[in-house]
Amino acid sequence: MADFVTGTTRGGKSWTPKFVEHIDQKLCIGCGRCFKVCGRDVLELIGITEDGDIVDAFDDEAEKKVMSVKNAGNCIGCESCGKVCSKSCIAHLPQAA
Ligand code: SF4
Ligand code: SF4
Repeated sequence: MADFVTGTTRGGKSWTPKFVEHIDQKLCIGCGRCFKVCGRDVLELIGITEDGDIVDAFDDEAEKKVMSVKNAGNCIGCESCGKVCSKSCIAHLPQAA
């Protein structure tokens, strides 16, 4: 069985963080709920144009807004973002130790 990076709760119990791995931007509605609960500056709202180009979320050319992973390395694997996502578009995975 693979070993994963683990943490310890305040009470001394071991737990396995599950880090943000992927956001399904086809399902994402850009509501921003995940962004609001993440205190680690991992996520970023981006805009996608009609041609599929990535632009600033508030650019006039943005036809759709979706969430993206900006700083994956900042994630602590708390899974809060996934819990508040009504579209279940955020996938998390433990990290091999
Ligand atoms: S798992 Fe936690 S730290 Fe990682 S992106 Fe989601 S809310 Fe932020
Ligand atoms: S909570 Fe889900 S639907 Fe809303 S922006 Fe985040 S990933 Fe997209």
